[in-house]
Amino acid sequence: MFEKIHHIGIAVENLEDSMKFYENTFNFKIQFIEELKENKVKVASFKIGDVNIELLEPLTDDSPIKSFLNKRGEGIQHIAFLVKDIYKTLEELKEKGVSLIDEKPRYGSHNTKIAFIHPKSTFGVLIELVEE
Ligand code: ZN
Repeated sequence: MFEKIHHIGIAVENLEDSMKFYENTFNFKIQFIEELKENKVKVASFKIGDVNIELLEPLTDDSPIKSFLNKRGEGIQHIAFLVKDIYKTLEELKEKGVSLIDEKPRYGSHNTKIAFIHPKSTFGVLIELVEE
């Protein structure tokens, strides 16, 4: 069903501070910084092998990242898996009774299609599906 881990999303209070830490301490190179207005998040992306690490700062007070930070503080917010056909995967998951946040994909960073699976179905892990 999943091709590989596409990226890991880390919720942060301050993108600048966290970027500086990851760059200076781990010598990570930023690949891109992007504001995703629809998802109410600002993303800074680094690559390790073929997995991306995304630092996520909320753009607004009603951002899902903001509510995550309020509830659980900074840390790993979601894991994203690459899929070949996001429509087909969502259909399969629905048939299996998995609780979906997005029944239809929306646009993610770099023109990807993304959809989220509800953590109540996955033992507490927010899982994102990504189709490139
Ligand atoms: Zn993501």
